[in-house]
Amino acid sequence: MRLLLIHSDFIEYEAKKKTRMAEEGAVLKDSQKETLIVFCAVESVDEDDINGVVAQAADEVRKTAGQLAVKNVMLYPYAHLSSDLANPDVAISVLQALERELNVDFDVKRAPFGWYKSFSLSCKGHPLSELSKTIVPGEGAPIKVKSSVTHEFFVMTPDGKRHDVSGYKDKTPFGCLVRKELGEQTSAGGEPIHVELMRSKELVDYEPASDVGHLRWLPRGKLIRDLLADYVLQMILPYGGTPVETPVMYDLGDRAIYEHADKFGERQYRFKSGNRNMMLRFAACFGMFSIMRDMHISPNSLPMKMYELSTYSFRHEQKGEVIGLKRLRAFTMPDMHSLCTDMPEALKCFEEQLAMGWKTGEDFGTELVGVFRCTGDFYAEHEGWVKKVVADSGMPLLIEILSDRVHYWIAKIDLAAIDGQGRPIENPTVQIDVESSARFDIKYHLMDGTEVHPPILHCSPTGSVERVICAILESTASMEVPMLPVWLSPSQARVVPVAERHLPFAADIAERLNQAFIRADVDDRDESVGKKIRESAMDWVPYVIVVGDAEVESGKLTVTIRKESAKDKPHKVTLTEPEVIDVIRQDIGSMPYRPLYTPRKLSKKARYI
Ligand SMILES: [Zn+2]
Repeated sequence: MRLLLIHSDFIEYEAKKKTRMAEEGAVLKDSQKETLIVFCAVESVDEDDINGVVAQAADEVRKTAGQLAVKNVMLYPYAHLSSDLANPDVAISVLQALERELNVDFDVKRAPFGWYKSFSLSCKGHPLSELSKTIVPGEGAPIKVKSSVTHEFFVMTPDGKRHDVSGYKDKTPFGCLVRKELGEQTSAGGEPIHVELMRSKELVDYEPASDVGHLRWLPRGKLIRDLLADYVLQMILPYGGTPVETPVMYDLGDRAIYEHADKFGERQYRFKSGNRNMMLRFAACFGMFSIMRDMHISPNSLPMKMYELSTYSFRHEQKGEVIGLKRLRAFTMPDMHSLCTDMPEALKCFEEQLAMGWKTGEDFGTELVGVFRCTGDFYAEHEGWVKKVVADSGMPLLIEILSDRVHYWIAKIDLAAIDGQGRPIENPTVQIDVESSARFDIKYHLMDGTEVHPPILHCSPTGSVERVICAILESTASMEVPMLPVWLSPSQARVVPVAERHLPFAADIAERLNQAFIRADVDDRDESVGKKIRESAMDWVPYVIVVGDAEVESGKLTVTIRKESAKDKPHKVTLTEPEVIDVIRQDIGSMPYRPLYTPRKLSKKARYI
């Protein structure tokens, strides 16, 4: 920020004509005597730390005003002091903040922003009467007082009893979560096993031509992503979720967005577009809040649940922390925001959405453990409800009580799977937000016209799609015969002809399985049966059907069922074709289906890695 301070006998101004960015509702004509006039230009660099810049500017004005013993201050926006101006919305909010800050000690007036104005003044002409200052964010800023918020941890069991955490630091998944939350070392480190698997199974790979933590998705991995997206949609639509899609980038000049982003912290992608300071979204909150802000919301439509699969959201994680599918700079988050009438309704929705979170763990075969966090005030008021949440979860939860509210939420739950090395992979979450509806001016009206800024729930029933895949791959580490859930397996069945003469018969089976909504391929390559069977095992194919003379003659198929096999001991059954279809369809159950993303004939399938 650039400041020009002038000690003056008086100042008079009158706004003459609007510019495009004229501030509305300001005082258009005014004057002040015996005053320190503060001409100011807010610069783009100030947008990195608005609070810091306001504090520094206020200090400068106080210091000079103190030396001059003046009581009056006139804040006067003066764009010509800089050639790199901030976004007008930001500039106005900075000037308003500076006005509020100085109002404590002085009689402050402020000339309107964005108008052509006539003005006259009379500089006193003594040595201190003219000063110019440049304020740079971060320099000489008052050191932010470290938060004095305290955190209390205990474990609550489903019977509602509280327990000291010390009894829960074992090697179980819950013990791993407890130790991580308490800041204790949870494992020796090393690369999680999913990193090797995501490549060897041809699902996902790093993209060297992009930033770190941005991945390329290969057909099999892309199929799993899409199935997971289908899964969440299939879950939230019957629940009343309404899908939308919103932009990935936002203007930091919008004060509500700036403040929300500021709360999130440093790990944002920020960039300039022309002279606007932009950010890439780190979640889908902005877009949906922006829609809600522009809606006329009737209480009858509450709770209103809005859903977006945020492809992508972006977090500028530190380079050393970016790893595999666990921590990325670009990720896909299924994100739902529920606008609730009041707190009781928010609590009810919280319970429903938490139940969805637990269910995703069952459907993915990933064991989840949880930590519930809330403010002390919330806990005092809703202890009985917290006990119900733990009882409904049917397992102990770690409870964290914060002495004060530091975030937009007053209560939240985080569910996590545990990776092969005992480290949590945070997945589903539900949060009760009591701040954003006011900040984004999201409201509904009661019958008597009273305006209500309602509580909003943030919920991801699964966590990011990438982390779900991470958790599923990590969970295979503890399996004797590793495999993906059948509904997510890129090839659900493979037909292997013993000799070339069996190929037409095998190809027909694969085609009929496809028609029955089963992803079946056929290994038509000129390879030995042994090699084809070994490769189907490497591809973790759940059902392998070997077709030779006996099968062609009898019509009975020999099927190897992977999930019932032990290591080096394949479980084989003999079934008719309709029985095979039945068994596989039952295994898929009500989970979503998509066709093969790779050619049905393996001879046509390309290698990606
Ligand atoms: Zn959100």
